[in-house]
Amino acid sequence: MKIKSVRTRVWTWKGPTVPPQGNFCTNASDALWMKGDAMSSFRFHQWLTCEVETEDGTIGIGNAALAPSVVKKAIDDWYAPLVIGEDPFDYAYIWEKMYRRSHAWGRKGVGMTAISAIDIAIWDLMGKLVGKPVFKLLGGRTKEKIPVYYSKLYAGSIEAMQKEAEEAMKGGYKAFKSRFGFGPKDGMPGMRENLKRVEAVREVIGYDNDLMLECYMGWNLDYAKRMLPKLAPYEPRWLEEPVIADDVAGYAELNAMNIVPISGGEHEFSVIGCAELINRKAVSILQYDTNRVGGITAAQKINAIAEAAQIPVIPHAGQMHNYHLTMANTNCPISEYFPVFDVEVGNELFYYIFEGDPEAVDGYLQLDDDLPGLGITISDKHLQHFDITE
Ligand SMILES: [Mg+2]
Repeated sequence: MKIKSVRTRVWTWKGPTVPPQGNFCTNASDALWMKGDAMSSFRFHQWLTCEVETEDGTIGIGNAALAPSVVKKAIDDWYAPLVIGEDPFDYAYIWEKMYRRSHAWGRKGVGMTAISAIDIAIWDLMGKLVGKPVFKLLGGRTKEKIPVYYSKLYAGSIEAMQKEAEEAMKGGYKAFKSRFGFGPKDGMPGMRENLKRVEAVREVIGYDNDLMLECYMGWNLDYAKRMLPKLAPYEPRWLEEPVIADDVAGYAELNAMNIVPISGGEHEFSVIGCAELINRKAVSILQYDTNRVGGITAAQKINAIAEAAQIPVIPHAGQMHNYHLTMANTNCPISEYFPVFDVEVGNELFYYIFEGDPEAVDGYLQLDDDLPGLGITISDKHLQHFDITE
């Protein structure tokens, strides 16, 4: 059975959005002198779908949320011709072919994101062709159900954050991630604002639940070193992406301080890129993003390397490709979960493009043992809210 076509579509949301609230999350652009729209690099309202079809009409679905229009061009012009005519079950060969034929420009960033979208579609396709869910092809069920952590709590007013945390507690979650709103440019007053919010969230969720803290690359090494001892009393499970993704030495230094476990990796690419983070002990928790790191083929290799180093893997973001990997790996203890909300940052968009993502119940989600592939379909329920580019 050969692959006969690769179809890409960019989905641009034009429906209602929730306006961003103040300093809702630090990010890498915070270091710029002229910031303009401070949150623009954090917000995205576009998504790419990638459908790989075999001669018998079976379609596997992949996707990408990073620079969708540019990734589309890379797939259409470069990668699709490399894939058409291949047998999807030769997935490891197809992956290497895409990786090596674009190595000069594609091994990180847009190229690897395009490879990821195709690879995820190929895994969905393989599952459908053999009538098995993807996790059954990756090692099978390692958990009765997947524990998830509530991932939102953007930095806003203390009252609003506490109210949100209270609602999430009622939803049965036992782990929560909140975002910092202040970084180096905000000085000591900003540090105090950050700490007040951590304390406020802890006040609501108590100390028997997990609290994770997210910087989204909006701090720097100096600032993070000063913050770690101040955060330690609040017992965070981890501090996420304190510095930019390229500062691997910074991650390693912070992690070696052994004050708060450091996590990251959602902006790292490929097997060797993640192996570097693991080998240098730059992170205590690895959080590759399957639709950036090289798809499920790369993710599964990284899982093996991380397991050997006893570093847990908690893939970035919700979404089925991550859930299947988490289900199939003992070393993936919990999944990130974006609760279903109106479109704000853009993380929510996949709920409007796809159908089939499981909803968390009492802090857990479940995958179906009998649903072939990844278990998602492209939805037609919200078409009126999208501009679609073929
Ligand atoms: Mg993150």
